[in-house]
Amino acid sequence: MDMSRGQDAALRARALKVIPNGMYGHESVRMLPDSFPQFFSKAEGAYIWDADGNRYLDYMCAYGPSLFGYRDARVDAAAQAQAALGDTLTGPSPLMVELAETLVDMVDHADWAMFCKNGTDATTMAMSSARAQTGKRIVLVAKGAYHGAAPWCTPIPAGTVAEDRAHVRTYAYNDVASLEAAVSDAGDDLAAIFASPFRHDAFIDQEAPEPAYASRARELCDKTGAMLVVDEVRAGFRLARGSSWSELGVQPDLSAWGKCFANGHPISALLGSDSCREGAGSIYATGSFWLSAVPMAAAIETLRIVRESDYLEHMVRLGGRLRSGLDAAAKKHGFTLRQTGPVQMPQIMFADDPDFRVGYGWAEEMLERGIYVHPWHNMFLCAAMTDADIDLTLNAADDAFAALAARRGDLAPHPILVALAAATAG
Ligand code: PMP
Repeated sequence: MDMSRGQDAALRARALKVIPNGMYGHESVRMLPDSFPQFFSKAEGAYIWDADGNRYLDYMCAYGPSLFGYRDARVDAAAQAQAALGDTLTGPSPLMVELAETLVDMVDHADWAMFCKNGTDATTMAMSSARAQTGKRIVLVAKGAYHGAAPWCTPIPAGTVAEDRAHVRTYAYNDVASLEAAVSDAGDDLAAIFASPFRHDAFIDQEAPEPAYASRARELCDKTGAMLVVDEVRAGFRLARGSSWSELGVQPDLSAWGKCFANGHPISALLGSDSCREGAGSIYATGSFWLSAVPMAAAIETLRIVRESDYLEHMVRLGGRLRSGLDAAAKKHGFTLRQTGPVQMPQIMFADDPDFRVGYGWAEEMLERGIYVHPWHNMFLCAAMTDADIDLTLNAADDAFAALAARRGDLAPHPILVALAAATAG
């Protein structure tokens, strides 16, 4: 496919003058193959268009927020109806109470809800609430897990000081002995244990939670009085229609939600049990846009569709087709994939590709064929995807693997990625 990228290049040149580095955070394509566009002009269903008008089937779904597809007509109608009445007001709209009731009904452990904007707001409030509830300081997080961009949890320490994370310590995900040792080291100062629903760290194979790890985390919290926090920001409502750990029989005290529960409208939430109601009620929590009514209307409609449709089973079925089809196509061309994580949130990397040069080459070849895949971050399916989209992907993959096999000897590692992987590993 001949894709022009002139507009994107011009925008990047302008951006470099008025935005530090032209872009920041993981949405900066400096860490992706050179051909990846930085700017997108529109989206519809499972597709995005870059600033040059090139169209891609989008396996990133805005890094998670697009659950039913972009501009879902049902969700956007609910949002627009509220927009005609008002959005950011002097206080919350009645929708806040309805949304809190809805989430408390849907999420087993939740007795209450507080709303904010980004996942980082919710995880940071979880940390503060746990400390306020327990009167203790130490917070345990799994090594390599992402919980947001605030000073206590950012993976890139520039601009922070050691004191910002003085009481944040790590354990190894799924490793009961390491968790027990970290809890024991914390003595009588443990405020919280954080866990993601599954191990979805960048650059590595994803791991399902071991039942013994999840239940031991609960037991250790019960024993010490610490709060168990599940960070559902990325995986929430993509694994289950409520708490992701309910199927393991483990209920947290707090859970942080964001990304997809308003199908792309900006809202996040901290949900909690009565065990942490007092602590959460005592912290100072607010933001100018946290109580805006439009995203709440979108969330209520999104959650109705979550309850009433087969969106999840549909994504799982398509994800299963994608995984087995990609395995077969890769094999045909002499590649072995490492496909991990739930099929609806796939991580796709290559065997024997320590510096990701093969993965980058493949992502580039897929992009040229109109499929946006990521070489080192988990991806997302959305319910707007169809069997025809999977067919399109598998056909493109067949071509992309063939082209990659032809270029294999010329592939080189991406310099910024190598530096970033070194900085965040270990
Ligand atoms: N927790 C997890 C597990 C996440 O994936 C993210 C975002 N990628 C966050 C927290 C932070 O969310 P946000 O970027 O909306 O602040």
